[in-house]
Amino acid sequence: MEDCLFCRIASGTIPARKAYEDDALVAFHDLNPQAPVHVLVIPRKHIATVNDLTAEDEATVGAMVRRAAAIARDLGHAEAGYRTVFNCNAAAGQTVFHIHLHLLAGRDLTWPPG
Ligand code: AMP
Ligand code: ZN
Repeated sequence: MEDCLFCRIASGTIPARKAYEDDALVAFHDLNPQAPVHVLVIPRKHIATVNDLTAEDEATVGAMVRRAAAIARDLGHAEAGYRTVFNCNAAAGQTVFHIHLHLLAGRDLTWPPG
């Protein structure tokens, strides 16, 4: 999608500090980090929100979650703990309408979230 920020990051048109990429996924550091580690894992396929996922996306979503866990492990946060979050639509504060899994680590994260 030409006008989608995260499609442009996935294609390399807009730069990002990438942590991982393969044929299906890209992971990159958030521009406005909310924790010492704040990485976004996205599919290359444009999917606007979690509401738009279909059965054919199940493997991709599974790969996104496992990739977040692998990045957390590689950065040394698997044992201490970390948070993974999908924000969906306005009430959750979604601002970029291409699904992304937030990986937050490196500080104590409060619950309930804001
Ligand atoms: P959300 O509020 O769940 O839609 O999250 C969107 C996230 O994308 C926010 O945490 C932003 O800081 C982040 N973001 C926006 N633009 C960029 C960019 N160009 N590079 C990296 N992260 C970005
Ligand atoms: Zn997109």
